[in-house]
Amino acid sequence: MGISQDELAAWLAGYDSTSITIGVIASHSSLQILHGARAEGFKTLGIAVGENRRRYYKAFPGAEPDEWLMLEDYRELLDQAEWLRKRNVIIIPHGSLVEYLGAENFRNLEVPTFGNRGILKHESSRQSQRDWLEAGGCTMPKLIVDPHDIDGPVIVKYAGAKGGRGYFIARNYRDFRRNALLEEEFTIQEYVLGCRYYLHFFFDPTADDGFQVQGVGSHAGKNLGRLELMSMDRRDESNVDEFYKLGSLRDLREMELEPSFVVTGNQPVVIRESLLPEAFKLAEGVVASSFELEEGARGMLGPFCLETIVTDQLEFKVFEISARIVAGSNPFVGGSSYSDINEWRMSTGRRIARSIKRAMEKGVLTDILS
Ligand code: AMP
Repeated sequence: MGISQDELAAWLAGYDSTSITIGVIASHSSLQILHGARAEGFKTLGIAVGENRRRYYKAFPGAEPDEWLMLEDYRELLDQAEWLRKRNVIIIPHGSLVEYLGAENFRNLEVPTFGNRGILKHESSRQSQRDWLEAGGCTMPKLIVDPHDIDGPVIVKYAGAKGGRGYFIARNYRDFRRNALLEEEFTIQEYVLGCRYYLHFFFDPTADDGFQVQGVGSHAGKNLGRLELMSMDRRDESNVDEFYKLGSLRDLREMELEPSFVVTGNQPVVIRESLLPEAFKLAEGVVASSFELEEGARGMLGPFCLETIVTDQLEFKVFEISARIVAGSNPFVGGSSYSDINEWRMSTGRRIARSIKRAMEKGVLTDILS
């Protein structure tokens, strides 16, 4: 299923290129996306449920959408496809859009969408994501298949868990039994000790300059497009980030407290400059292998995030990928220590809009949308 490139091209043929509108669900990274779209000269559309949501954008006139589509339920978006296409809308997807619509509905939304929606099926299951990342040369935290084999700290992740909710740490089988909801699907990963870095990259297949990703497999010997490092963050996670204040792990157990990993915010970071070549190597590998995920794969497109832990051996362990803009890029509406080097005040949201603008100028819009 999903949208074919022919369908996409037919929709775009009916678009008025002087009046392209960037549309986004009013959540997640929408302020950054709307602000960036406006900076690049696009009209903007906010999509929201509930008047309260719309009202709060009054507080940010620099990002307030030119127009709103108000819904009773986000799934109504599927019925508004024609309305959106009449307004020449290109949707910028983010994590909340995928969550609100559901993966299948998102894939079938009949509106031109930035990036490759086809990548979602390789990202949405933990095993297929692992296969992809390992094929790209990433080292991932070890998997523990049988809980009886837990012999050091592990993190238990439920399949449907969002934003780290419900994860827990176990040190042995007894810990695991005490906390596990056995009726849920879960994976057990080695708990990697180190510092977390969430690396925000952007891959532009229409650019033939800069750091070019070298193809592998069926694309060996080809330059696939330009890879850019936009920014980096570290998530604030409640309550694990502040747990240390309450004493040792034993004290915490006595108080019957367990750490949780619910994302509440993001902080800007940079890594040691000597780690950057390795960061690029991993991102390049992940992009190159995304073109080999299936026959004719369109590969990674636009923003993506490698979620990593750097150990005291200065090794990256990659525990997840997000194949679209992440909320961790929000501290960088005004640019980052990395993006500012190339162009002052270039956020990921603005980079998306820039990419659309350049693709329109070159007549290759279908190459960056799905
Ligand atoms: P995730 O849902 O995979 O993005 O993980 C949520 C949070 O759990 C991360 O931001 C980390 O703080 C933590 N985490 C996930 N996997 C690991 C791991 N293997 N080792 C240590 N911490 C982890």
